[in-house]
Amino acid sequence: MGCLFCSVLEKKIPADVVYEDEHAVAFRDIRPVAPTHVLVVPRKHIAAIHDLTEADAPLMGRVMLAARTVAHKEGLEPTGYRLVINDGDAAGQTVHHIHVHILGGRNLTWPPG
Ligand code: AMP
Ligand code: ZN
Repeated sequence: MGCLFCSVLEKKIPADVVYEDEHAVAFRDIRPVAPTHVLVVPRKHIAAIHDLTEADAPLMGRVMLAARTVAHKEGLEPTGYRLVINDGDAAGQTVHHIHVHILGGRNLTWPPG
């Protein structure tokens, strides 16, 4: 069972990495839907939000802090940005390794489609 984002983390698939630390890696989405579209991925393979356990709470905190750092580095703070995690089919999750989308650089409508 291969996981696309585990392959990116193992550098078997190239990615435009913009940030990495002990807990998470951030790289540009291959099909951006906003001028800035970065994915923050925990190094640990967890398929989806619904698979999280209590033990993952510190890790997910680190993922959110990594997202904040990337948003700052990308210059998104003055105008604002959106973090999105899709969970399951109805939300449109296509890669089954938790990832936070960072979307910014344009005005984002609400509600999402
Ligand atoms: P989701 O639909 O929430 O599971 O998001 C998966 C995202 O991964 C999509 O926005 C894809 O464009 C993106 N994606 C798929 N393959 C790659 C890749 N090799 N490198 C970067 N982003 C990718
Ligand atoms: Zn994985």
